[in-house]
Amino acid sequence: MFHEIVVPFGDTSEVTATEDHAAHLLRRAARRKYQIAATADGGAVINWTARKYGGRRTEPRSITLVPRLPIDVLTDATLQDLSLISDGQARYEVEANGPVIVGPAWRIPPTTTARLRAGGLVAENYGLVRVSLTVHLALLARQHRTHTTEPGGWVRCACGFTAHAGDRSDARELARSHREVAVTDFIAGRSSAFTATATTTR
Ligand SMILES: [Zn+2]
Repeated sequence: MFHEIVVPFGDTSEVTATEDHAAHLLRRAARRKYQIAATADGGAVINWTARKYGGRRTEPRSITLVPRLPIDVLTDATLQDLSLISDGQARYEVEANGPVIVGPAWRIPPTTTARLRAGGLVAENYGLVRVSLTVHLALLARQHRTHTTEPGGWVRCACGFTAHAGDRSDARELARSHREVAVTDFIAGRSSAFTATATTTR
């Protein structure tokens, strides 16, 4: 679940967005080629420019998705559990000590299952357990931490991506677009946050 903060016309409104609604907003933003950025706590910011009252003047607009349960440190053990769950075959089973998440050849104990649920790290869809959108966004933001070097306009990313840009503003734009491609690839189903190694995700 997210707080959805919409900023049109200098006015701000805030509502609650489910994971499905947040995913819908992100897919629509990607289709319309709006700017999208993931945040390390598991949220996202969508920016675009709209025509004002159908006229010639344009103005900036934004939607900010703030996770109700921000993603904190993800330990290697938690990442391994989430990686198992991300295979698409995880489901709940009820045992004497409470629900457990099980897959074809693995089982996550009740206490860990309870912790994953309480932290909003997993969500349920049609009987299947999946990794929450919040976790995916947090991992994408953490895997693609960029910095630009001066002088020279180099961009370096935690994922290993390196590129050269003309000057400081080009470098910032290149870094932004690199991070954005990572998010839009995920939204379009072309990549998973679980393909990177655990060491780049904290
Ligand atoms: Zn990167």
